[in-house]
Amino acid sequence: MLAANWKMNLNLHEASELFDGFLETLPAQESNRYVIFAPYVFLPQLSLYNSSIELGAQNFYPAEKGAYTGEISISQLKELHVKAVLIGHSERRIHFSESNELIKQKVDCALAHEVKVVFCCGESLEIRDSNEHLHFINEQLKDSLFHVSKENILNCSIAYEPIWAIGTGRTASCEQIEEMHSSIRSSIANQYDQTTAQSVAILYGGSCNSKNAKDIFSCPNVDGGLIGGASLTTEEFSLIAHQLN
Ligand code: PEP
Repeated sequence: MLAANWKMNLNLHEASELFDGFLETLPAQESNRYVIFAPYVFLPQLSLYNSSIELGAQNFYPAEKGAYTGEISISQLKELHVKAVLIGHSERRIHFSESNELIKQKVDCALAHEVKVVFCCGESLEIRDSNEHLHFINEQLKDSLFHVSKENILNCSIAYEPIWAIGTGRTASCEQIEEMHSSIRSSIANQYDQTTAQSVAILYGGSCNSKNAKDIFSCPNVDGGLIGGASLTTEEFSLIAHQLN
């Protein structure tokens, strides 16, 4: 699975061109799942493509409707053929003070509407340096994700994104990634069961690019990537896609 997080980048023309480029160059293997988390305002245009690339939204508010000025609901996104949402990204936790409780409500709202979830978790450098990273990530999962049913966890993917590696050009080492991903896999197995743990995709995100993707994707517990900066050009994203196992 490969997901692109375009964040607050591009204009409509650039977004359409990039999407066209992806359609032309991404390997069309049925086992590969591609999701593009585009800014809201590009979704109407991108939804016209009717392609096998899933449209995703970077945010939404977990209420059905009402007096929430400036917010967008899941039902509104579904009208634009949005199939997945990004929840718990560190940029939303940090810049918009999203709490574990709000993130949990978002998970429930998305799943109730049969929209797939990409749940992000990740530790700060301070937490890693104090050797608390495995425990910290386990708590993030327990606080906002692991309350969902076994049936519903299968509609979720988990993206491990160390905060210190996002947009910094500093990638976690394969040892660090594998340590965390296998710990996440064990946590899913403890909470649900082994078969379920094998079925949940665990993605890595954080300065992944065409040069380091091969090594990252070859870690046994890495099932793909969530790509920020390197998803903003066709060439780079497509080179990464060609390195999926
Ligand atoms: C992200 O923010 O989801 C991300 C992975 O960003 P980047 O690839 O730019 O580090």
